[in-house]
Amino acid sequence: MRRNKKGKTVPQDLFVFLVLGLLAAVLAAVVHLLYHTEYAETSTPNDCFAAVSATATGETAVPKIVCLTFDDGPSAHTPEILDILEKEHVPATFFVCAQDANEAHLDKIADIAAAGHQIALHSASHQYSKIYRSTDAFWQDIKQLRQAISPYVDADSLTWLRFPGGSTNTVSHKYGGSGIMKRLKAQAEERGLHWIDWNVCAEDATASHPNAAQILRNIRRDADGRDTCVVLLHDTKATGQTVKALPDIIAWFREQGYTFCTVSQMNDLQN
Ligand SMILES: [Zn+2]
Repeated sequence: MRRNKKGKTVPQDLFVFLVLGLLAAVLAAVVHLLYHTEYAETSTPNDCFAAVSATATGETAVPKIVCLTFDDGPSAHTPEILDILEKEHVPATFFVCAQDANEAHLDKIADIAAAGHQIALHSASHQYSKIYRSTDAFWQDIKQLRQAISPYVDADSLTWLRFPGGSTNTVSHKYGGSGIMKRLKAQAEERGLHWIDWNVCAEDATASHPNAAQILRNIRRDADGRDTCVVLLHDTKATGQTVKALPDIIAWFREQGYTFCTVSQMNDLQN
């Protein structure tokens, strides 16, 4: 026991408590630093991670969030995807294209928008050799995409973008040099666009053509331990197994306590 000025004893517990409190504060600062270092050095930096790292160390609990994102559509499978999402009351985000392969399905963009999902920009041609030849070529492609989809959605209002291959792809270096993605990301911001990658990959559009069960396993593997999941799925004529897996994907995230939202809703929640 120690004694204060008046000679009364002060429980040693208080000192232990103060020392432990100090240690906890130091530990929290170290964890905070490590957290930011990890995300600063991740190979897939994006808006989403930045937003998560900014809130994860705060006082309030971060809700578990999942954004289902469908790239490369619309396609012949879009109506089935929309039916499942409607039945399950799940909002999603569609990063659309306007290439030859899906030209006949572009009018389905109106259905996607009417159902309350988010439409976002991906690419008109989706041909890396074309779009990543130069920054001008990239923005010309985005302009073409907006023109192609403008009959079905207010294309000027679309402010979210996903770079084909992701923001850290290296395929682009072959065509536009090693600095092209960095320049495109800076230009996207100058144009008032948000861009986002993914942190959960269904691997549903790979050459191995995984079945529905494998797609769900891929997702569970990547989602494990994450409070915020941005899931990369595809909406093309080749990804029928994705449609088959979708009800189970939704059920799994629901069981794990996740809330479904669009990419822009997630951004609003985190800011
Ligand atoms: Zn794509």
